[in-house]
Amino acid sequence: MPHAIESRTIDMLAGVDTGTQIPITTIEGARPGPSLGLIAGNHGYEYPPILALQKLRGQIDPAKLAGTVRMLHVANMPSFLGRTVYFSPVDGKNLNRVYPGRNILYPRVDRDQIVKQGTGLADITDFFGRQIGEVRAPFDGVVLYIVATPPITKDQPVACLGAPRQAPRNID
Ligand SMILES: [Zn+2]
Repeated sequence: MPHAIESRTIDMLAGVDTGTQIPITTIEGARPGPSLGLIAGNHGYEYPPILALQKLRGQIDPAKLAGTVRMLHVANMPSFLGRTVYFSPVDGKNLNRVYPGRNILYPRVDRDQIVKQGTGLADITDFFGRQIGEVRAPFDGVVLYIVATPPITKDQPVACLGAPRQAPRNID
């Protein structure tokens, strides 16, 4: 397996704001394994985690690593550059309070799949991978959609089933 350290920036295109860049590092290990994501700089004026990731980057040897480490060095670059503590100087929001979702959804079915009542449609875990729930089909039907962006919040619809007016016919 090729192993390497790559550092670059991700361009965040201008939207309602002027856009920015986010510095990241990806360390691909020599052997397969889990992925670890590390995020610093949600609050741009809190330097220790930012410095910790920069230090950690030089201490990981990809040749000895199993899996992947992804570092996001400064999540809120406008806050970092603007020297604001908690709130972005662009929109006045606290990045730590606007991440979507509190749990992770793992779909077990695809769109258009025909499912029986009680079929498991998806598993729900917390951010540490502990299973905290399961979504089951309330009736026989066809999966019309299933949420593809894993972070979810409580009470959010995650799938839609359609019940055909009549059972699908086999065409011979
Ligand atoms: Zn903070």
